[in-house]
This record gives sequence, structure tokens and C-alpha cells, in this order.
Amino acid sequence: MYGFIFLQKLNSLNMDRRTFLAGGTASALSPLALKAVNTSSSHPREEDITAPPARFIQQRYFRQPVIIESMDLFHHDGSWFVRARSKDGAEGWAIAHNNMRNYYPIFTNIIAPNFVGRDARELDQLVDDVYLVDANYKLQGQPFWVPVASAEFAVLDLLGAISGKAAGDILGGIRRREIPLYIANNHRNHDPEDSLRRIVASVDKIDAQAVKFKLGGRMKVVDQIPGRTKALISMVAEALGSRCTLYADANSSYVDVDYAIHIGKLLEKHGFAFYEEPCPFDYLEETKRVADALDIPIAWGEQESSQWRFQWMIRNGGVQVAQPDIFYFGGLIRSLRVAKWAEQQGLPATPHISGGGLGFLYMGIYACCCPNPGAFQEYKGINRHFPWESTGQPFSIKNGVMTAPTGPGIGVRFDPDYLKSAKQVSAL
Ligand SMILES: [Mg+2]
Repeated sequence: MYGFIFLQKLNSLNMDRRTFLAGGTASALSPLALKAVNTSSSHPREEDITAPPARFIQQRYFRQPVIIESMDLFHHDGSWFVRARSKDGAEGWAIAHNNMRNYYPIFTNIIAPNFVGRDARELDQLVDDVYLVDANYKLQGQPFWVPVASAEFAVLDLLGAISGKAAGDILGGIRRREIPLYIANNHRNHDPEDSLRRIVASVDKIDAQAVKFKLGGRMKVVDQIPGRTKALISMVAEALGSRCTLYADANSSYVDVDYAIHIGKLLEKHGFAFYEEPCPFDYLEETKRVADALDIPIAWGEQESSQWRFQWMIRNGGVQVAQPDIFYFGGLIRSLRVAKWAEQQGLPATPHISGGGLGFLYMGIYACCCPNPGAFQEYKGINRHFPWESTGQPFSIKNGVMTAPTGPGIGVRFDPDYLKSAKQVSAL
């Protein structure tokens, strides 16, 4: 009713809605209309609704359809593997996230059946279709998107097996073969001196040129070790500031915006380059208020599973370093979409990565083909819990720089004998 009256008023003014919102006539309207104006800035623009999402799969590498005949899940000693097979008998393999132990029924019952029978070349569309079909959107969150990401990686490997192309090329083209890393630390239960020792050791281990450490109490303001946050900010800056780019991650610690800003000012004073998740991750307005008050870029997004919320935060100044998690957000295609939105604002999109499941491998694929991945990519160590080897340029980390995966598909080969000993996980 009120919306109808509001639209009639616009019609009577004989101007379209966009011209109206951009103009200065709002003060002539009622408080109700003003509210509509104030909130409309966060609504989707018409071109966002009608424009299809960016597509990344390079069709030119595939002359024939690649029909997915089967998609299967295997488990061995805490690791989870996905196999995608085409009707022509080609095979792709990916390592899934360790949390698949909790999510596998969603994979076997919902995700895999929706991939089977589809053309792998339509992967851009597939990751949206599986979300919309059967009201699967109601499942959105890590338990849904981790299985989708795992399926996507296996399909990319299948496309690589058929074309001989690396996933980075299939997703748009490899732009860089070396990827500078930042080493991520997590020592909240250690005192400042011991934390610093561990942080410096992690930097030394890979000769990292950038480092991130943890602030606050993770979803609570109080430090596990009283006084740790403030002491460590200056200690890390003094020990490593001349050697490394410094990042800090509050993991959603500060509900109080003023306190979050206070900590941000300390980081600015000591030359830090981004401040991650200052407020609880879903406190969008509070995060934006912190971003508005500070010069230091706010990094955010590892918990986010909604494309629209991500887009809103990027376009409304809530985040300056977008951080989709390649697993939690549903794979490389959706993460590269975030990068596109960030690029439109002149911002980087530097993914958060999961430590297990060869998270660094998928980060490497993303960073090698993304135009705006940021200066350094997150690194949490190498997973050698199962036998794998690079099929492209040899995998190495030197002077804090990792080689990109350039072999076909996801660029690694898992030991076939190891895979043979894995147990297939059936649909319920
Ligand atoms: Mg984080």
C-alpha cells in the first residue's frame, strides 16, 4: 500500500526511480518516503538483477560436450576425494575439505546427483543451478557449499584431463606462475612473548614477506591471555615491521564498534596493512562503521556464503579486502565472481583458505588466474597426509613465494594405489 503510494508519487513527478534517487528532492517527501530512499541505496540495481553472472570456463578448449556420467566420493584415513567421470571415460579427481566427514550426505544425496548428466562445460551455470533446484538455497552455508566446491574442483580436473589445460587456464588464463604468500598464525592461548617467538619462527620457515596474526578472543572481546592483543601489536611491528607486510585478524572479536576502532587505530599507528573481521562476521553495519572510521583496509568475508551480501559489503564500503573462502563459499567460480565485484571498486579479493584438503592448491589456482588477488595469499602449511605430486611446474616455496599449479586440471596427481585403497561412500 505505502509502496504503491510512493511509486504513484514518483510517477506523478514524471521521473524514473534512479533519477529520483540520484537527485536532491528527497527532502520534499514524507518520512516514510525518506526511509524508502535511505534504504533503497542497498537494493540491487536493475542491471545487477538482469545481468547474468560472469562466466569463467573457456569454452574454446572443448569442441564436444563433456557429459558427467558419475560423481563419487571416497574416504581414506581422514581425507576425502571426489571422482568425476565423463561418458567418454575421462576422469577427474579432487581432494575435498576435511569437514566432509560431517557433510557427506549432502554431497552424496544432493550435490552429486545434480551434477550427473550435466555438461561439464556449463560449470558456471551448474554451481547456480544446484543452489536453486529443489529449494536447496535453504541449505546455504558451509555444509552446502563445501560439497559444491569439492564437486567443482573434480569437474575442473575432468575438464583438464580432456583438454590438457590447467584449471587456471580453463578459468580464464594463467597470469602468474609465482604466488607470494603470507603466513597465517594462530596462537591465542600463548602469552605475547611465546606468540612472538612462534610468529617469527613461522616467517623464518618459508622466508615469508608477509605475516598475519590473531587479535582478540575469537567471537569474544576478552583475550585468552590478558593484555595479549595490545602488547603483541607493538611487539610484532617492532620485530617484523621492517621485514614483512603485517596483517592482523580479530576473528569477530569486537561487538563494541568504538573498541574495534580503538584497536584499528593501534594497528594503523604500527603500520599494519589490513585489519580482518573486527566485528562479529554478520554485524555488517558495525563492520562498515569501523571501516568508515579507519584508514586501514578492513578484510572480511571468510564466513560469508551469500553472493548478494558479499556484493553489498563491497559496494557499500564495508570491506576493502574481500576474503571468500574457496571451500566455504562454494568454489573457484563463485570466489572469482567476488573478485570481479571487488575489481569494479578497485579492490583486491584475497581468499581465506582452509588448512586441510590442500587449501593452498586451490588458492594457487585462484591466485594464478585472478586479475586482483592482492599482494600476498594466505598460507597455512603443506598437507602431506596422503601421497600427491605436482603434474606441472615442480611445487616449491622459496623466499615466501609458491609456484602456481600449472599441470592439467587441478595440477596434482594422487597416488593411484592410495586411491584404490580408499573406501567409496554411498548415497543413503
Ligand atoms: Mg580470519
